[in-house]
Amino acid sequence: MARNEMYDVIIIGGGPAGLTAGIYAMRAALKAVLIEKGLPGGQVAITKGVENYPGFIDISGFDLSEKFLQHAMWYGLEIVQQEVGTVEPGIDFHSVRLENGQVLNAYSIIMAVGGKARRLDVPGEIDNFGKGVSYCATCDGFFFRNKTVCVVGGGDTALEDALYLAKITERVYLIHRRDEFRASRILQQRILLEPKIEIILDTVVTEIKSGEQGVRSVALRNTQTSEEKELEVEGVFIFVGFSPHSSLAPIGVKTSTTGYVLTDDKCETNIPGIFAVGDLRQNYAKQIVIAASEGCIAALAAARYVEAKKPQVRPAAVQPEPANASR
Ligand code: NAP
Repeated sequence: MARNEMYDVIIIGGGPAGLTAGIYAMRAALKAVLIEKGLPGGQVAITKGVENYPGFIDISGFDLSEKFLQHAMWYGLEIVQQEVGTVEPGIDFHSVRLENGQVLNAYSIIMAVGGKARRLDVPGEIDNFGKGVSYCATCDGFFFRNKTVCVVGGGDTALEDALYLAKITERVYLIHRRDEFRASRILQQRILLEPKIEIILDTVVTEIKSGEQGVRSVALRNTQTSEEKELEVEGVFIFVGFSPHSSLAPIGVKTSTTGYVLTDDKCETNIPGIFAVGDLRQNYAKQIVIAASEGCIAALAAARYVEAKKPQVRPAAVQPEPANASR
């Protein structure tokens, strides 16, 4: 990667959406680069098991993301490990400024930067991060072997990770603020069959308390009766949703009230040539297969866009032979 190098497409983010965009960009013979600040894989890489990516009945998130990466690398996709500072739209081309000061230019940009786990925003949460508070069961579950933990949330992530933690820990309290789960039926059924999981509904965590050894308990309030109580746990796993990394979207890109980037059906934002895919994009559901399909759509649309935008290299005009050349 040379300074101020010009690409056809710059892909930002190395999760399923970004890597799939990379595969399709390479197949479309685009000059492409993927920029990822950490290890490629995204959220999937830290997911314990994936059971709904077609073709794989059960695969670890890490293994699946490795397969995406190998596939993209097989096509020779250039991958740069750097943090992106800003995306700067232009008229003839767009620019990406890296944190190290380097600027890359491209006719099109595909933003596949996903998001991060939402916080509960209760006292004791930030102070105890890494000392009992966690947002990743696969990463931290091991530290709570044979201990009692609680999981907060009622979506797919909370229920999937509660099931995972039940295999490692002594007991899992699953605390949800309503009386019904948002998670898929199959996970709800599995939760009910797991004897180590105790469900606490209509309840919110109001504080995470700690002692010298880290987290000691959580303070709870019943949303129906306002009854308050304390529950002794050594780990608090918080899965209360997801915030898109939309701060990277340039000024002028339209977003929803919840911060997801709005696009058309080609995954193109309101700025021509700038695309958003995967968990960053406002879409119907957040699934790996959807992120991958959006990466595909954006790369195909970017290829069309680049073709129309790029100054055409025309074959040298063939000089007509003089009429009397052979004479
Ligand atoms: P989610 O579906 O948005 O669920 C968040 C959960 O946290 C909800 O139950 C919500 O309660 C609760 N919550 C939100 N704010 C809260 C607060 N301040 N205090 C207490 N509880 C709070 O998030 P997710 O589970 O991370 O899933 C994100 C997306 O990824 C979803 O589309 C999901 O289907 C998908 N996903 C899919 C899979 C899979 O297919 N294998 C796995 C993981 C995630 P309410 O229900 O009351 O709003």
